[in-house]
Amino acid sequence: MNDLVLEMLCNLHLDGTRQGPGSDADTRRALALSGLEKGRDLQIADIGCGTGASTLVLADALDANITAIDFVPQFLDKLDALAAERGFDHKISTCIASMDALPFENNTWDAIWSEGAIYNLGFEEGLGYWRQFLKPDGILAVSEITWLTADRPTELSEHWLSEYPGIGTAGEKLSVLENAGFTPLGYFPLQSGAWLDTYYRPLQRRFPAFLARYLHSDLAEELIRAEEHEISLYERYQRHVSYGFYIAKRSD
Ligand code: SAH
Repeated sequence: MNDLVLEMLCNLHLDGTRQGPGSDADTRRALALSGLEKGRDLQIADIGCGTGASTLVLADALDANITAIDFVPQFLDKLDALAAERGFDHKISTCIASMDALPFENNTWDAIWSEGAIYNLGFEEGLGYWRQFLKPDGILAVSEITWLTADRPTELSEHWLSEYPGIGTAGEKLSVLENAGFTPLGYFPLQSGAWLDTYYRPLQRRFPAFLARYLHSDLAEELIRAEEHEISLYERYQRHVSYGFYIAKRSD
């Protein structure tokens, strides 16, 4: 992705409360399955945090020091401001880094959280790389695009296989987790509101301002067409695809 496209996508997403499908209720549900509890002084990394919707839920629910990592500084500036506003600045610190070159010691984290972001590395590659940073028995909680049905309409399959060849069913993802040295603790698909109410609808409302800002350039129009296409596929085929939330424990 070139710098201009990255800058444009950052501007398109900066004003969203989430930069991908997800919801506070789903974050809390994953937290309940993780067994992480208030009252322990936990060290948590939230990788690919965006503007930190999940980070803020974790800070609210736990007595944790949370390091929120992203490679887009503007997202982290916004999270810093939100954390201060919500009185969580003592629990949340931000770190600009790439998720494939993390500046951490091995065995650092009680939990690694990552919503809608591990696909940037690939599910298997991400698990394999991040595992070393977890303490033994550390918790991994990641959401990842997932097929909900064994048979899919061709139009939907072709789109996602070309966007993300690693897409798979929950069974396939759970096997990948086990083979990478994790014991699965739970899985659930996100509710449909986590796509439409908290992500796609607010995103669509920002399209006119985005196009105006970039003077309806060909590139801006093309980016919005691609987003609209993805949204239309979701609207028509949501029975077949969602994000799955996978909660697991490092198994050694
Ligand atoms: N977890 C947030 C954001 C999901 S969007 C949420 O659920 O709302 C994916 C995030 O990953 C974006 O914030 C993007 O900037 C970040 N990202 C993409 N590639 C990255 C990389 N190589 N290193 C660090 N962050 C990355």
